[in-house]
Amino acid sequence: MSAMAEPASFRARVAAAVADPRLAEAIARTTGTARRKRAAAVASWADFASARALGRDIKDHVIAHLGHYLALFERNARASGAEVHWARTAQEACDITVRICRAAGARRVTRAKSMLGEEIGLPHALREAGIERIETDLAEHIIQLAGERPSHIVWPALHKTREQVAELFRARHHDAARGADVAALVASARRELRAGFFAAEVGISGANFLIADSGAVCTVTNEGNAELTTTPPRVHIVTAGIEKLVPSTAHAMTLLRLLVRSATGAEVTQYTTFHCGPKRAGDPDGPEAFHIVLVDNGRTRMLAEGLREMLRCLRCGACLNHCVVFRTIGGHAYGGTYPGPMGAVLTPALDGLAANRDLPQACTLNGQCQEVCPVAIPLPKLLRGWRDRSWREGLEPATLRRSLALWRFCVLRPRLYRLAAGGAVRLVRMFARNGWIRRMPFAGGWTRDRDFPAPPARTFLEQYHRSSSARGERR
Ligand code: SF4
Repeated sequence: MSAMAEPASFRARVAAAVADPRLAEAIARTTGTARRKRAAAVASWADFASARALGRDIKDHVIAHLGHYLALFERNARASGAEVHWARTAQEACDITVRICRAAGARRVTRAKSMLGEEIGLPHALREAGIERIETDLAEHIIQLAGERPSHIVWPALHKTREQVAELFRARHHDAARGADVAALVASARRELRAGFFAAEVGISGANFLIADSGAVCTVTNEGNAELTTTPPRVHIVTAGIEKLVPSTAHAMTLLRLLVRSATGAEVTQYTTFHCGPKRAGDPDGPEAFHIVLVDNGRTRMLAEGLREMLRCLRCGACLNHCVVFRTIGGHAYGGTYPGPMGAVLTPALDGLAANRDLPQACTLNGQCQEVCPVAIPLPKLLRGWRDRSWREGLEPATLRRSLALWRFCVLRPRLYRLAAGGAVRLVRMFARNGWIRRMPFAGGWTRDRDFPAPPARTFLEQYHRSSSARGERR
C-alpha cells in the first residue's frame, strides 16, 4: 500500500489489499520464511512445551502482582539514577516525552523501533512539536521514507518487496545502491543513517523487558541500532507499556528464548542490552540523563475487562505469520497499530469496539494463533469475547440481528425448523448448475468471489431419519 490515504472502512482496505499482487508476494515471502524458521527452532527445542508453560506462568504471576512489581521497578530504577514518569494515556506519554526533549534542547531525536511508540502516536507528537525524528531500525527507516505505517510488529516494512525498497532508496538516499541486492540496500541505509546517530540530542527506545529487581531496561535488536540510538545522545528516553515487567533478569532470559525463536527462529538476537541508569563517573560513553516513561494507556482497563491474558503478549509476531487472514490482507487493512490476531484483540481494547467491530469478525477461529503463541494466549477465546460483547452492545448490523432472531425463533421450534431447513435446501438447489451455485439472489457477497457446491437434495436430519428407518431403528 502506498503513502496515499488509506480507505476509511475495513472492507475497503481489505478489498484494496487483496487486489494488490505485489503485496501478496511480499507477505508470502516473509511470513513463509518466518514460519519455516520458527517450526525448525521449535522442533529442535526438546522442552519447548515446558518453557512455554513457564513463560505463561511468569507473565501471569507479574500481571497478578502488577502493583508490587511496578513499585519495585520504580524504586530500583530511581536508585540506578533513572527518572521514572507515569503516563495514564497516550497523550500523557507523548506530552512527557516531548517535554523531556524540549528540556534537553533537542531539535533532532533518533528512535529505535517501538510498537508502543506507534501505539501512543509518538511520531506524530514529535512532528507537531517541530522535532526532527530519525528512525534507525532499517524497516522503520523504509517506512519513514515512504511515509507509511508499519504493517507487521516485527517486520514493519513486510508489505514491501526488495525491489520496491530499492526503488525508494534510489529516490530518497543521497548515495543509493544501484541494484536490489540486500547487502547493498543495507549499506545504503547505513550510509544514510550514520550521521544522524551522532547528531541527535535525544535517543528514544522502547523496552522488551523491564527488570523489577534491578530497575534495568532490556532491549533486543538484530541491527544494533538500539545501542547506537541510546548511547551517543545526551538523553535516553524509554517508553514502555507496564505489561513489560518481569521479576528478574533470569525471568527475562526465559521469555527472551521464547520471544526470539517465535519471532525469527533464531536462538538469540544479535544484540541484547540491559540499560541501567545514566552514564556513571568513569564510563566512556552513555547518556547523561535516563528517563523511563511507564505507560498504561488502557492496560489496567484490560485487566478489568476480561482481557488479562492479552497482557502476556511478547510482541513476537508468530500469530500474524500463521494467520490465514493476515497472510491474505496484510497489516494495513487492520487499520490500527497492531495487526493480525493479537491486533484484532488489542485494537478494540485500545481504540474502542464501536469503531473496530469488524476486526474480531475477521477470523476463521482455526486456532493456529493460539497454537504458535509462545505464552499460550487464548486468542480465539478473546476474539469470541469481543464478538459476544459487540452483539450485547448492539453494534452488529440490523440485518444480521434480524436474521439471527428469525433463526433463533425457528431453532427453538424443532418442527418449524425442520420444515424451514427442508424448504431452504430445495430453494437453494434451484440455483445450482452442474452441481455448483455460482450466483444467487441475496448472496452476492459470497458468490462474487467464490462458487459453492449445491447442497444435497435432503437435509441432514431427513437423511438421518431415512437411514435409521432403513435399518429398522426407532426414532
Ligand atoms: S499474541 Fe502471542 S504469538 Fe501473537 S505476538 Fe503476542 S506473544 Fe506473539
